[in-house]
Parts: sequence; C-alpha cells; structure tokens
Amino acid sequence: MEEKSIYRRVTHGSEPYNYLKERMISEVRRTVYIHINLDQLTHNINVLRSMLQPKTGIIGVVKAGAYGHGSVIISHHLKSIGVERLAVGIVDEGIHLRKHHVKGPIHVLGNIQSWEMHDCLRYNLIPNVSDETAILGMVDALNNLKTSKGDVDGNIDYESLGIKRHAANSNGISRGFGTDLDFVRPGSYMYGLPPDNSDEFKAFGISPIARMVAYPTLIKRVPKDTNIGYSSSYKTDKEENIAVFSFGYADGYCRNLTNKGFVIREKTGERCPVIGRVCMDAITVRVPEDTTLSESFTIISADYDPLTSLTGIADTVGGLVFELAANLSKRLPRLYTTRENHWNTSVRALSQNIY
Ligand SMILES: *Cc1c(COP(=O)(O)O)cnc(C)c1O
Repeated sequence: MEEKSIYRRVTHGSEPYNYLKERMISEVRRTVYIHINLDQLTHNINVLRSMLQPKTGIIGVVKAGAYGHGSVIISHHLKSIGVERLAVGIVDEGIHLRKHHVKGPIHVLGNIQSWEMHDCLRYNLIPNVSDETAILGMVDALNNLKTSKGDVDGNIDYESLGIKRHAANSNGISRGFGTDLDFVRPGSYMYGLPPDNSDEFKAFGISPIARMVAYPTLIKRVPKDTNIGYSSSYKTDKEENIAVFSFGYADGYCRNLTNKGFVIREKTGERCPVIGRVCMDAITVRVPEDTTLSESFTIISADYDPLTSLTGIADTVGGLVFELAANLSKRLPRLYTTRENHWNTSVRALSQNIY
C-alpha cells in the first residue's frame, strides 16, 4: 500500500486540538486518537542516559510497533536525538523500518532462522545470537549466501555484524545492571511505561509519552431505569446523561473496563465512569448534564493515575501495561507533536501502516 502520504509535517501555531479534531474527522474519519509527545520521549532518554556510563550506548527497542506508539516516527525521532541503534522483535519489523528510510544499525531480538538470513543481509539487519550453535548456523547461512547473493543490496555493514555485548532491559537498567556494557536495550523506560505501579520506577522522573483522546459522538438524556448496552449490565439510577464514544475493544480499549473504567472530561477534570459494556466499536459513559459533543475527553492519561493511566488500567483489569500498549489498534490515529507545535502527523493513522 502507498504510504508516502501518511507522514506529513505541518506547522500550526494555534490551539492544537480544535485543529486536530477537524483533521481527524475530515482526514482520518475518527473521533479518537493517540497523542504522542516526542519531547517526553527525548526527556525519558535523557534520564536514561544519566544512569549509564558514558561509553555505554543505547539500543532503542521499537518492537511491536514501538510498544504501540508506531515504530517509524518513533525510530526517526530516536535517531534524531542520538540513539545510535534500534532493535525490533522480528525481521519483518526491521524491513518495515528500512522501507521507511530508517538508517543505521537495527538489531532483531528474536531467534533468527537460517531462512531469514537472506533478508537480514538484504536489509542490513543484525541478528541476535545467544548460543554457539546459532552462531555456527549463521556463519553457514552467510557463506551460502555470499556465493549466491545475486540480489543483496550494496553497503552491507559487516562491521556492525561484529558481536557486541549488550543486556539489560529497562528494569535492569533502573537497578543498575548492565549499565557498563557496550549497550543497554531499554524499551518500556523510553515510553515511560513502568512494569507495575510501584513508585520505584516513577522516582526516576520518566513519564508516559502517549495519551488517548476522544470526542463523544452522541449524548443522550435517558430516563431512570434505562438499561444501557448489551446484556443490560447497567441500569440508570435516575435521569442520566449518557455519552457514546466511537471506539471499543477493537481499538484495544479493554473489554474488562465494562462498568469499571473512567475517562476525564478535560474541560473540568471530572472523572466520568464507563457504564455498560465496552463494545467492539463503542463505549458509553455517564457525563454531566452540560457536556457537549465538541468537548474532548482523556481516555488514557499520560501519567500514573490509578484510574485513567495505562498502568492504572492494567491494575484494574489485571493485565500487563505492555500488553495493553501493544494492543492499541492500528486503526487508532497516532498524532506526534514536538515543542514547536510541529505536528508530525501520521494521518490515516497507522491504519494503513501495520507496524
Ligand atoms: C523487549 C526486550 C527488551 C526491552 O525490554 P523493556 O523491559 O521493555 O525495557 C530488551 N531486551 C530484549 C531481548 C527484549 O526482547
């Protein structure tokens, strides 16, 4: 699929969200998006750097669509702030980055099979090796390829195939493990996602880089004793105002938030409860009487709030924060911003953009 038109940099000086809402509706045709703050990503990386020895480099882990944040723009941003290496989970993710002009060393963390060596060479991806058999297998595969490598692209960086020592994920780094090796491989830390809601992790001064925002698509005043949604899991106590938002579990909003989730009315900061079932494409929320369709709501907050953050939601549903992040669906538009109000939007979202 043609993706050239997806990434566009637009400059816009005025209040962002009115503009964005218009764009979301007219171009992406959605009333919900994920706002990714690239400056926060820069900040998290700086915090991380301060914990490493000067000689230790960073391999930015961008597997699983950069933990749901969208690997292409995250990768370009990481490179622009001097993160010298990237890592993906599978070869296909690495190919995707190359096709979107991401340069420099890209490691593949998963176990590479010998039949994948050809693509590793062609796209200059660095296979991970964890034991001697794998190394020997790889050397074998490489030798076979070298004698018949008709369609291998030029400029292979054999140097970077040299074996480096790296270890330590975010958790390890925050405990001081591996911070003096050649490289460390943080993932969750960069995105500001702690493995749990413990304060230990938050004390380092990182924050989540993503928040989810939505506008209601319908608000209805309903009488007392109205059953809301499928299988009538909620019945109104009194006359209530119910807002429908057009996203649901198909977007990665957990079905287990049925009658448990909360969203924030941005105008006032009020917490509004999700009532009734989370459906595939919709949720229903009890809102104050004066709520209008043009008001934005924070669906997932970029903090560690016990009710509305991804970490809080993970606690509520008994899930893992990374699982929730990675499951944020490709059909949710991702909107990338930096300080100067440069909207680096991925319009049409990652809907066409599988990683
Ligand atoms: C995913 C992954 C990481 C990053 O882990 P985080 O806990 O997200 O920092 C590091 N190393 C390997 C091998 C991985 O698969």
